[in-house]
Amino acid sequence: MYSLKGKTVYAGIAIGKIELHRKEKGSVRRYKVDDKAEELKRLERGLDKTEEELKSLYEKALVEVGESGAAIFEVHQMMLRDQDYIDSINNIIDGEGVNAEFAVAVTADNFAGMFASMEDEYFKARAADIKDISERLITVLKGKSGAEGASSEPVILAAEDLSPSETVQLDKSRILAFVTRLGSANSHTAILARTMSIPALIGVDFEDEKIDGAFAIADGIKGELIIDPDEATLEKYKALKAKEEEKARLLLEMKGKETITKSGRKIRLYSNIGGVGDLSAVLENDAEGIGLFRSEFLYLEKETYPTEEEQFNVYRTAAQTMAGKLVIIRTLDIGADKQIDYFGLEKEDNPAMGYRAIRICLDRPEIFRTQLRALLRASAYGKIGIMFPMIISLDEVKQIKEIVESVKEELRADNISYGDTELGIMIETPAAVMISEELAKEVDFFSIGTNDLTQYTLAIDRQNRRLDSIYDPHHPAVLRMIKTVIDNGHKHNTWVGICGELGADPTLTETFVEMGIDELSVSPNFILPLRKAIRNAD
Ligand code: PEP
Ligand code: MG
Repeated sequence: MYSLKGKTVYAGIAIGKIELHRKEKGSVRRYKVDDKAEELKRLERGLDKTEEELKSLYEKALVEVGESGAAIFEVHQMMLRDQDYIDSINNIIDGEGVNAEFAVAVTADNFAGMFASMEDEYFKARAADIKDISERLITVLKGKSGAEGASSEPVILAAEDLSPSETVQLDKSRILAFVTRLGSANSHTAILARTMSIPALIGVDFEDEKIDGAFAIADGIKGELIIDPDEATLEKYKALKAKEEEKARLLLEMKGKETITKSGRKIRLYSNIGGVGDLSAVLENDAEGIGLFRSEFLYLEKETYPTEEEQFNVYRTAAQTMAGKLVIIRTLDIGADKQIDYFGLEKEDNPAMGYRAIRICLDRPEIFRTQLRALLRASAYGKIGIMFPMIISLDEVKQIKEIVESVKEELRADNISYGDTELGIMIETPAAVMISEELAKEVDFFSIGTNDLTQYTLAIDRQNRRLDSIYDPHHPAVLRMIKTVIDNGHKHNTWVGICGELGADPTLTETFVEMGIDELSVSPNFILPLRKAIRNAD
């Protein structure tokens, strides 16, 4: 018996045999293509070939199972030629300059998530069909035929690294845990592991030949991979696993339940996301909306400014996937710890208090207007809220509202439709707290960013590790500010939420409810525990 340390991405315990993941097996790699036009043509050829395959499957099924049984392959042909589906794949190839297989895998994921979130059972069931046709298309694009066989025994999957599309394509029923040598805790793969509630460890320095086929315990609680455990260790872990499963079962009971306090007050329980890749986790964890979509990741992952069209596609996917539930998208919040080369920002002595977020947007309206156009256009496809970060003055809010109005005018002149959007601001500076009564008259909602509010209130740089022990969001100054903001918001019918990390702290749930909080927005995996905490609050 020996053990290897790793970093936990999703806590939980798995016991079983390790299988080394071989990249070629049914996985999709993301790579950059030199010639986008050629890649789009390759996709077209792939679509034609897949359509042919579906036609012959229909013919075969017609003979073997009759018309009603064969009809599904007709539906698949229609889905394959759906314009939105094809547009999405084309846009990913064109926008990101990546391979068609990857574009199909991402589109499949988004569309499947969108269908899965629909109320109508018929549409819900289409999620599996989208995945099915996409897998077929990917196989065709790879120039292979048929799925490669794999043993059906569930395993702990060990890999160098896993891309999101590889992760989503794995047969989840066969995976007890993920163990990777590389990977980051904030990666989309990590988020997917959390979504799928599969214990996952990253940064485990294993040797391929030593662990392949070995019996092991993946301890996602302590962050350890135990290979060839002895009898006593195995027994201990079996007992621990049973306890964990019981806990998880209790949480799952929270799915589909109302987020309501004992005294009957309804709290909106929303999710924070960094991109559309997180949407599946949002749906899986039953969030009632999105309270913070950090749009800056869209800018961070690119080498130049994302175009209006690229942004529109992303925001539209979010709006459509959430199918009528509120999606609050925060406008660009860069600067400070989030630097982007192509913005050409000067080095600053004090970046946390520097040229960042709304300050950049108001200073460079062309960037701001592009994002607002994309957001407003997407609002025609769902329920979008727009939120502005780092506000310190009434004047900023008035300027923002004027710009929003002028962008709307421009859209109307171009005959482009947009929906109703709620406008809100983040309350993350003491200045905004102190003038929250005046600000409340101007906006539909407040979302308290406790991460920055703590930093600015306590004068502690949130990036400074040496000050971690005194960076205290429970400080009475921060808590009193939250109460002030809630009271001031309510004086003018402005609803108030928290989207900073503090919102997920179950030791404060009761306090926030007592203060009158209307909404809490947290990472997807905190949704169900928080629902439980709210249902237990008075
Ligand atoms: C916050 O400051 O609390 C917040 C939610 O925004 P970010 O963490 O992205 O600065
Ligand atoms: Mg912030």
